[in-house]
Amino acid sequence: MKISRDRERETKRRFDLHTEDPASSELARDINRDIVLELLRRRQPIARVDLARLSGLQRSTVSLIVEQLIEERWIVEGATVRTARGRRPTMLSLNADLVILVVDVRPNHAVCAVVDLNGHFLSRESVPIAAGAEVGVARIAEVLLRLRAGLERKSFEGIGVSLPGRVEPETQQLLWAPNLKWQGYDIKAALEERLGLQVEMDNAANSCMLSELWFSRQGSLRNAVLVTISEGVGAAVLANGQLLTGERGMAGEFGHIPVDPAGPLCNCGERGCWEMFASTRAVLRNYAEREPGKLITSFTALMSLADQGDSHAIAALEQQAVWIARGLRMVTAALSPECILFAGDITACWQRSGSIIQRELAARMLTGKPPALIAIGDGEMARLRGAAALVLQRHSGYHRSTASSSRSVQRDHADEPHEVFA
Ligand SMILES: [Zn+2]
Repeated sequence: MKISRDRERETKRRFDLHTEDPASSELARDINRDIVLELLRRRQPIARVDLARLSGLQRSTVSLIVEQLIEERWIVEGATVRTARGRRPTMLSLNADLVILVVDVRPNHAVCAVVDLNGHFLSRESVPIAAGAEVGVARIAEVLLRLRAGLERKSFEGIGVSLPGRVEPETQQLLWAPNLKWQGYDIKAALEERLGLQVEMDNAANSCMLSELWFSRQGSLRNAVLVTISEGVGAAVLANGQLLTGERGMAGEFGHIPVDPAGPLCNCGERGCWEMFASTRAVLRNYAEREPGKLITSFTALMSLADQGDSHAIAALEQQAVWIARGLRMVTAALSPECILFAGDITACWQRSGSIIQRELAARMLTGKPPALIAIGDGEMARLRGAAALVLQRHSGYHRSTASSSRSVQRDHADEPHEVFA
């Protein structure tokens, strides 16, 4: 009974040319390859015959994909297992020795790490990068070289980079990053030259969304928005199962829609952007206005003040939550998501802010119930795993072949709990 249910569920995930975008056979092959890879990740060790049964793909198709993946060292053959009928299928697993270097670039520091094909972290190191693009990227390269040197038995597949800005999909250049100011510097070329590995880059919110779709429990979502709220406010949009990039990768910049024309000047050059009221910088500014003599420079410090009962800190956080909900009115009216995921510093005070956002948003819906609001954590792990997913996608050819329009990522593993990473 369980097997037939599994089969029904997983067969539905087959790429169907009739219901998806008009696609080349190359794209269909890439998607089938993704499906085989994901089944391997979830069910390993697994035999070819079971891959065919669970994917609903032809056995010959599965065999071809498996041979290619073995040749490329993504999967390895293991022990043979005796079945009831006496046959001995060879079990397949993801190659645990194949790993990806990942970087999460924030406005003032970057976190570098090594992730394997199963999404496990092997090492992690933080590096300051406030000195500008050239020095910052050189420091990141030094750390990546050191991480690689510490794992000399592993085989490195590529580098994935998550950035607090928008990356043009075709050129992989940082197009716009008001809180980083690294535009015009070729990050990809600099890292590729130092490391000798291919680099894939994307926006931090997109990276978080990809991580949720590839590695976490949100894989069955069709319409969702992921909002990152830290020093800035970013968003990624999943609409009808497609991760939107828009023209030149610029889709999703809700944080830079003005909500008060008389508001403070934003780093983007406009006044009163949503980010100027909903970000953690906005909370600190708000607190400074209420308590001019008291210098609080971190969101964490402000949260502790609120926990100690400081009424101005509590009021500043409540004001932020109300502004978040006001901006989400734009998001829900424009996109009607079934779910809004939150990442970034805001998740640290979710107990305080989540219910206010929920209440304020419910009062602002055009019609019906508000979408589910889910805090997924500070996002560092999600951004790093998402950066790994960027490389996984490139390898399958899927990212490349759809880069000019959008990326469709359909995963159905809602039954899986969030994995715990060491
Ligand atoms: Zn702005």
